[in-house]
Amino acid sequence: MSTQTEPKLVTQIDFARAGQITPQMKEVADREHRDPEYIRERVADGRIAIPANIVHIKKGMRAFGVGEGLSTKVNVNLGISGDKADAAEEWKKVKIAEDFGADAIMDLSNSGKTRQFRQQLIDETPLMVGTVPMYDAIGYMEKPLVNLTKDDLFEVVRAHAEDGVDFMTIHCGINKSVTKTFKETGRLMNIVSRGGSLLFGWMEVTGNENPFYEYFDELLEICHEYDVTISLGDSCRPGCLYDSNDATETAEMIELGKLCKRAWAAGVQVMVEGPGHMALDEIAANMKLQKRLCHNAPFYVLGPLVTDIGVGYDHITAAIGGAISASSGADFLCYVTPAEHLCLPNAQDVLDGLMATKIAAHAADIAKKVPHARDMDDKMGQARRKLDWDAMWKCALDPVTGKKRYEESPAATEGTCTMCGKMCAVRTVNKVFEGTTIDLGMED
Ligand code: SF4
Repeated sequence: MSTQTEPKLVTQIDFARAGQITPQMKEVADREHRDPEYIRERVADGRIAIPANIVHIKKGMRAFGVGEGLSTKVNVNLGISGDKADAAEEWKKVKIAEDFGADAIMDLSNSGKTRQFRQQLIDETPLMVGTVPMYDAIGYMEKPLVNLTKDDLFEVVRAHAEDGVDFMTIHCGINKSVTKTFKETGRLMNIVSRGGSLLFGWMEVTGNENPFYEYFDELLEICHEYDVTISLGDSCRPGCLYDSNDATETAEMIELGKLCKRAWAAGVQVMVEGPGHMALDEIAANMKLQKRLCHNAPFYVLGPLVTDIGVGYDHITAAIGGAISASSGADFLCYVTPAEHLCLPNAQDVLDGLMATKIAAHAADIAKKVPHARDMDDKMGQARRKLDWDAMWKCALDPVTGKKRYEESPAATEGTCTMCGKMCAVRTVNKVFEGTTIDLGMED
């Protein structure tokens, strides 16, 4: 008889490896039209993550799968900043994210006491919740950046885990070796990741190794306790086309790949974050390289923005890159709003950014042949053929905006819209097939 105690199963990856299908795996399978065993297998080897903190599960969150063979997920960033702390406006953004089909909300609050907003968000939203503890560290510990200790930083991570955060962006890959490459090879835009820049500054001033890298095993213990998925931050993502796919970005990606294996060995789910700014023709290769170096871990991508000069319209530059990246292997898109590079987004920016990213994700899912991805498009085709406007709103990604625009400009001819009016091609061809009079040019 064995006297050894069986290890406690806590995380989705623990259960998957033990051959057990959790309610969350079943929920993901149902929503994605996949067999539960398909999900379990891929959670077990890290190709799918189900970011679901055990605290948030108890509060009734929905389970979302991120990774191979699943629909592309979309994240909305929000949260108060030091310059603009209007909690009511942030709650409006939460409502938009929930109503218009986001899968995740990242609370990037970075000023003052952020815990109350975070806890309320986790209490109320069924969507995945992500955070970047590094943004919160200065306010939480009430200390200047350079005085923060490793224990301070880990205390912030533990607080977020206890609150029920499902995934945390932690910039573990920017170690002394990567910063050496960065300083030796140089970049046009240096480091543009907020968390990455804070850690780089901390490392340079203190002379210490990145504590999230040096004490990675300790970080894994906290994440395992609550089943927090680590989203390995890309501190060295390119901030302009000139820097994309350079030595620094690639050096960090190699480190992230090594950390993926260590996380999985410790029973911790992991995703990897990616660029950034990148020319259209480089994106597919970058996705393939990331999947290769990071052992098929789910890839969470910001954009990429395919040009640096779309200021004011960066939800479009990012959606173009998002469609290419997701159709080439990215699994999770972080939205970008028209306010990118300019200011904290308002509620309208959030809607515009979310819809642009949803369109990119959906277009990619059709190209990737995600099961049933095209169903609504085919229904929309049928509704349009019949000029059935109510059916069209049911298929639309944003029925509110579509219906509002249609009703603001009433057509003179029933069933058509003011684009072509009586010359509506659909109406004319319908009349041909119905054998009814084509009444063009027969106006009173
Ligand atoms: S009027 Fe023109 S745009 Fe409007 S439904 Fe008919 S064909 Fe389409």
